[in-house]
Amino acid sequence: MIRMPAPDEAVLARRSEIVDALRRIVPGEGVIDSEPERRAFECDGLTAYRQLPMVVVLPETTAQVSEILRYCHANRIKVVPRGAGTSLSGGALPLQDGILLGLGKFKRILDIDVENRCIVVQPGVTNLGISQAVQAQGLYYAPDPSSQIACTIGGNVAENSGGVHCLKYGLTTNNVIGVELVMMDGEIIRLGGKHFDASGYDLLGVLVGSEGMLGVVTEVTVRILPKPPGARALMIGFATIEGVGHCVAEVIATGIIPGGMEMMDHLAIEAAEAFVHAGYPLDAAALLIIELDGCAAEIDHLIAAVEAIAGRHGATSCRASQSEEERLLFWAGRKAAFPAVGRLSPDYYCMDGTIPRRQIGTVLQRMEEMEAKYKLRVANVFHAGDGNLHPLILYDANRPGELQRAEDFGNDILRLCVEVGGVLTGEHGVGVEKRDLMGTMFNDSDLAQQTRLKCAFDSESLLNPGKVFPQLCRCAELGRVHVHAGNLRFPDLPRF
Ligand SMILES: Cc1cc2nc3c(=O)[nH]c(=O)nc-3n(C[C@H](O)[C@H](O)[C@H](O)COP(=O)(O)OP(=O)(O)OC[C@H]3O[C@@H](n4cnc5c(N)ncnc54)[C@H](O)[C@@H]3O)c2cc1C
Repeated sequence: MIRMPAPDEAVLARRSEIVDALRRIVPGEGVIDSEPERRAFECDGLTAYRQLPMVVVLPETTAQVSEILRYCHANRIKVVPRGAGTSLSGGALPLQDGILLGLGKFKRILDIDVENRCIVVQPGVTNLGISQAVQAQGLYYAPDPSSQIACTIGGNVAENSGGVHCLKYGLTTNNVIGVELVMMDGEIIRLGGKHFDASGYDLLGVLVGSEGMLGVVTEVTVRILPKPPGARALMIGFATIEGVGHCVAEVIATGIIPGGMEMMDHLAIEAAEAFVHAGYPLDAAALLIIELDGCAAEIDHLIAAVEAIAGRHGATSCRASQSEEERLLFWAGRKAAFPAVGRLSPDYYCMDGTIPRRQIGTVLQRMEEMEAKYKLRVANVFHAGDGNLHPLILYDANRPGELQRAEDFGNDILRLCVEVGGVLTGEHGVGVEKRDLMGTMFNDSDLAQQTRLKCAFDSESLLNPGKVFPQLCRCAELGRVHVHAGNLRFPDLPRF
């Protein structure tokens, strides 16, 4: 189980004074103090971990965010930023002695700039809300997490979120071109903008994916793209998982970059078919859905090329969508795969690791062996083109020991991803979930370097501490032990 930093009793003792100070900054209903109302914020999408925040504050302006952070910095109070709370790695898990800073009221579209093909929005706008805002102009925002109806662009920036279309159009980091950021000491800065590239270090690149640990995003500028003239989906069944892996690798090696290339294994196919009746091949060991977009002649050419590759790798069935309705139906099962799998078991644990595409067959085979070891079933639904796995481990939290077994199983899968040359996360972030596995990928000196970067933005480790780095307050290890009023912070941590 994950251990969070011991709460600072001195801060807890000052709770009502802190609430009063926040109310002076955000008057009205923007400060949530009562326990039942704070409960709504006690976890994010990683629901196995829950913690009531000390207090919740919902500012409406950048000036308020700046004042809140300045106050917290001066009074050494921890802050956890939150968008919609859909993170699957516990990135928005509150702290007992921390303020939960919700950006849910930052919902305005600020500027649609068609000429520059970009849009400026507040961080609480949902991912889907951005595409909806520009759909009348035939434009859209490409990164499309399955949670796009709920998750916010601020959360997407913090997690460098991905989705089906990221194989061709890039992750969040490839589509964000500017942000307004409030630093932990209250300073408001801008990184990037509507222009291409910026002088100096790529700080925007550093920020995207930093999991709410470097600053609070209060405005985001993203690229918007014209919708492709057409798109069709192929639904290809395979007799073996290895066939899928080889097909995916060859499609990409040939130079074809599909608009999306998603894989589902047998258990996921069964669950999704029962849920949406998309006509998935129930006799297949695995299924690929491959979307090809462009003009009609280009799509026809690509469909023929992909069909030929699939045939060489043991495809047992292949259907191309004949209408827009059918294309959407092919995708409906994939998009609803998580809730569909949710009907197979009281609980499931969604993992997120990335491997080189060639290793898909090997890794799925090793996962099958682990199923026997841990006596738990796994359904696989993932972004095959990116090699980004999402094994869903089925368990029942009411059975003693099953949650722990599911977590151990998940950790073994992630270690396997690293072993075959992959990484611990593809798009869900490290958060608290994978924090203690960072040592399997990085040595002490790598982690110290990363922590130095964190310290450059937030020297007191007040912004979202306890996430991502296995040891807290590494600034101390870097020779800066902060002892205030005789109280050593994180006294439970080893010092060396
Ligand atoms: C059913 C389901 C499907 C999902 N599918 C996908 C998927 O396909 N692809 C994918 O990538 N993810 C997916 N996710 C995960 C999740 O939706 C993303 O990580 C999303 O970007 C989180 O956005 P949020 O607004 O909910 O952020 P939160 O969960 O509230 O926060 C996430 C992190 O961002 C930080 N943060 C939030 N707002 C700000 C801000 N304004 N400034 C600084 N830091 C901030 C928080 O501190 C936290 O560390 C899925 C989740 C669910 C529940």
